[in-house]
Amino acid sequence: MIELLAEEHNCVVEKLIEYGDELFSLEDTEEDLSKAKPRAPVITVMGHVDHGKTSLLDYIRDTNVVAGESGGITQHIGAYKVEQKNNKLITFLDTPGHEAFTAMRSRGAQITDIVILVVAADDSVMPQTIEAISHARAAQVPIVVAINKIDKPGTDVDKVKRELSENEVLVEDWGGKVQAVEVSAKEGTGMDNLIDGILLESEMLNLQSNFDCPARGTVIESRIDKGLGPVATVLIQKGTLSIGDLFICNDSPGKVRALINERGQRIKEAYPSDAIQILGFDQVPQAADILRVIEDEKILKRLTTDRQRLRREIEQKKIAPHSLDVISSMIKEGETNMLPLVIKGDVDGSIDALSETLEKLNTKEVSIKVIHKAVGPVSESDILLAQASNAVIIGFHVLESSNAKLLAKQTGVEVRIYNVIYKVVEEIKLALEGLLEPDKIEEIVGRATVLEQFKIPKIGFIAGSQVTEGIIKRNGLARLIRDDEVISEGNQLSSLKRFKDDVKEVKEGMECGISLEDIKKYKKDDVIEIYEIKEVKRKLESTTPL
Ligand code: GDP
Ligand code: MG
Repeated sequence: MIELLAEEHNCVVEKLIEYGDELFSLEDTEEDLSKAKPRAPVITVMGHVDHGKTSLLDYIRDTNVVAGESGGITQHIGAYKVEQKNNKLITFLDTPGHEAFTAMRSRGAQITDIVILVVAADDSVMPQTIEAISHARAAQVPIVVAINKIDKPGTDVDKVKRELSENEVLVEDWGGKVQAVEVSAKEGTGMDNLIDGILLESEMLNLQSNFDCPARGTVIESRIDKGLGPVATVLIQKGTLSIGDLFICNDSPGKVRALINERGQRIKEAYPSDAIQILGFDQVPQAADILRVIEDEKILKRLTTDRQRLRREIEQKKIAPHSLDVISSMIKEGETNMLPLVIKGDVDGSIDALSETLEKLNTKEVSIKVIHKAVGPVSESDILLAQASNAVIIGFHVLESSNAKLLAKQTGVEVRIYNVIYKVVEEIKLALEGLLEPDKIEEIVGRATVLEQFKIPKIGFIAGSQVTEGIIKRNGLARLIRDDEVISEGNQLSSLKRFKDDVKEVKEGMECGISLEDIKKYKKDDVIEIYEIKEVKRKLESTTPL
């Protein structure tokens, strides 16, 4: 499409393949598939606070001292591999909690094969259990339920199963496909069954990877070590990583100086589903960054400089995030047929009523997908989930925590708070029809081209310009464009002059002197654009709920 469009404007499109995004792809090529060998499953543990996630991981780690190997798992590196009977291996990510999981996913990393959902039998399904279910489901990762603390008197396993079924997790006893295993992480009861359950689930997934290609993996955690420099734990997902390999990680280079496993041993090679600490990074990488071996030093150098430059350019032109009006226009243009929502409300009843009413708006062409609904204020976890799934958050009679507000702003996730049902329904209906008007629209008021810059003592440079279009207004907002690139945006005018006089506006065709706040220099042919952000008033909400 880009090529066709460019052709119409007599332009030639140059593809930026040299930046090498495809190098970071974890998708399997034909060659990968033909060479694929089985690999160990990668497991994340999720569940409500105090239901026993840490205890479960601790039990597995502490009981796994493989005979003959020196010592047990000593290093806290964010992940470890345990060996089970028949030499079966399982990799556990040692960062329990769905926030870590979704934070990784929101940055595009999908590293978990199976989620263990821990539910304490004496407490049953709780809000974070439901969140964990939503997070696992949104990532399309299968769940194995560990019903924990069965050593405690008066626990009710059936209640757990029933409440899970109410949240659309149907365990085998309930005619579903989800395995539920009763365990005590404290005493070790049932833990073998849990491990068997995981192995069974992973067999069904038929997990495989190519071991024989340039290695690729995802950073799980990182730190700066006073003596060693940047150190990161990386989960290898493809290929074999060896000492001495050159690599790129996100956009900085590195060379593997050492590989250390969870037992503190230095090893020579790491394979798919291994989690290892790597020494030899140029910069401290971030969780979810992808590491990729590049054999040729020249290519590596070019890639890193190109990618660094590209990233700086992208950061300057931040891409508009998904909001309800953006999704609405995408629906109108036929670019999507789904509206993902996260719904938070004050009471259970209203959330159910709301999501049912909304789902009735579905048509053959477009549909709403409620990826999570729960009671409570809009939280940071909701924002992360929405970001990872490009969803809009609907808050009904609830507030947004200040941290969530901040995160929403940083991530560009839209949170819409309502107090009456009909208002939500009306706006969602418009959005689905592709008719929701944006709240704010930008209008260009005028443009001027810089002829030359003048220096005025005490004030600095002024752009001597000619108005080429519309009107230049003293109280408008301005952006400065140079060679078709936006240099600065949102600047106010610090002065607007016709000859020596301050004026409020200058019309098309006239010359004037413009100076913009925070801009020190102008060049001939720079374009100064004056625009206004217009608020499109949404109808006032009625205060009497329906
Ligand atoms: P997390 O918040 O999910 O990581 O939960 P923890 O692993 O920290 O466990 C919370 C509390 O429950 C701790 O006091 C544990 O000792 C206790 N606990 C965990 N598993 C069991 C269990 O199987 N039986 C009993 N009785 N207590 C447990
Ligand atoms: Mg814990």
